[in-house]
Amino acid sequence: KDGLETVTEGKLTMATNATFPPYEYYEGKKIIGIDAEVAAEIAKKLNLELEIADIEFDSIVPGVQSGKYDMGMAGMTVTPERKNSVNFSDSYATGIQKVIVTKDSKIKSLDDIKGKNIGVQTSTTGDLYATDDYGADHVKKFDSGNAAVNALKVGKVDCVIIDNEPAKAYVKANGSALKILDTDYAVEDYAICFSKDNSELQKKVNEALKELKKDGTVQKIVDKYIKA
Ligand code: GLN
Repeated sequence: KDGLETVTEGKLTMATNATFPPYEYYEGKKIIGIDAEVAAEIAKKLNLELEIADIEFDSIVPGVQSGKYDMGMAGMTVTPERKNSVNFSDSYATGIQKVIVTKDSKIKSLDDIKGKNIGVQTSTTGDLYATDDYGADHVKKFDSGNAAVNALKVGKVDCVIIDNEPAKAYVKANGSALKILDTDYAVEDYAICFSKDNSELQKKVNEALKELKKDGTVQKIVDKYIKA
């Protein structure tokens, strides 16, 4: 034994929410994406077999905290609140919260959002920041980003606040019906979370991540999914 404790011996269990292209989403029955592939490379370096559990986004932190999963990787932003519950790896990507509106929307800036209905995915940073800035009454929570975007299309909300890459994917999937405002709502760091009781795994994953960044593997995976 190498002293590396995992929930199931020999396996690295990653909790994610596979509704977040290009980081994690389904291709047929398989979960693919940047997070899935980076995690697979990390598992390889650690001599573990990667197992991905697709759960609700807001169950990831509690699931990792309780030791049900070895780590959480879901385009997850490092926040001070989450840091109270879990430990984070070094960051492996930057996320930007963006605003999606319909093509003919009167919303042109962040100021225009005041008093409007905002669609978000429950418990994401988009949800947390929008609730702080615009008030809980104006924030409509959905199970997935996709559900929020569908609500925007039928006029149930006036905009959706979500991370930039999924925003691009959702807008692209909807032809010319939607657009993304140029303004950045928030810039943040994505990282992998671990139980506070498993700093050994956190350390090992950071070492693996460092090597994978240095040898260009992380960039290669990012480039495969995000076309400049
Ligand atoms: N980056 C956002 C967050 O951490 C959204 C992540 C997600 O929806 N998977 O809250």
